[in-house]
Amino acid sequence: MARDTGAACRRCRREGLKLFLKGDRCYSDKCSFERRAYAPGQHGQARFKKQSDFAIQLREKQKVKSMYGMLEGQFRQYFKKADQQRGVTGENLLVMLERRLDNAVFRMGFASSRNQARQLVRHKHVMVNGRKVNIPSYLVSVGDVVSIKEKSRANGLINESLEAVERRGVPSWIELDKKGYASTIKALPNRDELTMPIQEQLIVELYSK
Ligand code: SF4
Repeated sequence: MARDTGAACRRCRREGLKLFLKGDRCYSDKCSFERRAYAPGQHGQARFKKQSDFAIQLREKQKVKSMYGMLEGQFRQYFKKADQQRGVTGENLLVMLERRLDNAVFRMGFASSRNQARQLVRHKHVMVNGRKVNIPSYLVSVGDVVSIKEKSRANGLINESLEAVERRGVPSWIELDKKGYASTIKALPNRDELTMPIQEQLIVELYSK
């Protein structure tokens, strides 16, 4: 059956960066960004225009929001919390986004995209410390064990994703037990491990206006 893959890929082309929103497709030659690495729309290939500081900050925020599948209201709430914490606000924000259960499930390799991970969580395939948790925004903590419910371990999508986990790599804050369909949170996520080009300071500047 045909699927509309346009919206997610348009976001990558708009941001000029692969955001890896479509799972395995993103690693294949079907990736739209690989084929058309320019902004979508009639003027997408027009000559680059100088952007205002505001536009640059806005695009950075939109990029991170798209990456983690957030809506504006939710994202702002995260920013507020990050701002209230000790330390560097931008880093706090990224660490909190990484700690979301849907992101953790994706990073663990149980899903090939954050969107797929969110579905797994919502459909109660995921457990935290032996208890079902169906809240994608749940924040994992050090020592938590995230696992796939026993009955869901035959799920084709989970197994396909786990098979491809080496290609994406598992961050050092996660210890994956592939055979046991479980992962332990060894430490809080580390900013240095986020390899996507994110300038979180621009988001802080935007929201601090
Ligand atoms: Fe689409 Fe490629 Fe972006 Fe994946 S990385 S969402 S396939 S454009």
